[in-house]
Amino acid sequence: MKLFEQLDKIDDKTKITGIFGYPVEHSLSPLFHNAAFARLGLDFVYLPFPVKPGELKMAVESIKSFNMVGMNVTIPHKEKVLLYLDEISPEANAIGAVNTIHNREGKLIGYNTDGDGFIESLKKQGGFDPKDKNVFLLGAGGAAYAISFALIRDGIKKLILVNRTYSKGKGLLEHLKKIFQDKCQLSLIELEEKDSSFIMSEIDLLINATSLGMYPDDSILITPEILPPNIFIYDVVYNRKTPLLKLAEERKLTSLGGLDMLVYQGALSFQIWTGRKAPVETMKRVLMQKFVK
Ligand code: NAP
Repeated sequence: MKLFEQLDKIDDKTKITGIFGYPVEHSLSPLFHNAAFARLGLDFVYLPFPVKPGELKMAVESIKSFNMVGMNVTIPHKEKVLLYLDEISPEANAIGAVNTIHNREGKLIGYNTDGDGFIESLKKQGGFDPKDKNVFLLGAGGAAYAISFALIRDGIKKLILVNRTYSKGKGLLEHLKKIFQDKCQLSLIELEEKDSSFIMSEIDLLINATSLGMYPDDSILITPEILPPNIFIYDVVYNRKTPLLKLAEERKLTSLGGLDMLVYQGALSFQIWTGRKAPVETMKRVLMQKFVK
């Protein structure tokens, strides 16, 4: 079904989903979720809701009062929203953040699909199985928490963390140690140590989970010369081809960008709300069209 035919059918039975965030006007999620609903002919709609920080509780309550099916949650609400839900999945609880709410018969259940979305894209889109691999992760914010949790759960051998603010990196390190004990070799290095070719030589997967790369003049956190020839590069920033991704291309390294993670985390939310497997190719195609324009 075409999107405009789908919109023509909106009535009181249409199931409402969407995203709570602030700001939210640049979110790409309405674009690919509505395309996915149309592709499968589902009577669902996805809307962006700008929710100011002081209004989150009221917004979450509205999911029940308007009988909405579910909601994505983004900056700045991913952590705070846990306070207002009836149930939280073990992953979301361990990560300490929720990006997907499902209204299951009046009960609001919180999930986090960021980590699994990252892993699914890595395996299905990138053909990279993280099991027994050595990983270097830049960042210690929300994305880094979700990604590191999923990677360790999936059996990576070693994780080296680095973050601009050391204390925040330490917070992530301690958090992971508490959850996983010695399931994985974990370490945190100082920012100055990140350019060590000795450390990098044993790395299979390098992930940028910082916001660096979002703006045109952003630099690369890693010295290009130290990258080993077979390293896989993943940059979670999704609004442009980042300098890190351009470097990977120049070096002919296998790489993935944030749009892949965005699609797969969205696909998992879609599946939670609809019970149907998401049309990932459709979701990806509409995003690519948007970026080529
Ligand atoms: P966050 O919680 O605000 O964390 C930001 C991280 O970036 C922190 O580690 C911060 O370091 C670091 N950082 C920011 N500016 C930096 C700079 N100039 N130099 C070095 N480090 C810098 O944000 P987040 O939610 O983790 O998101 C991080 C990025 O991931 C964003 O670009 C976001 O859009 C993207 N993301 C993508 C997806 C996807 O599906 N593709 C999902 C989630 C997030 P400090 O601790 O020192 O401040």
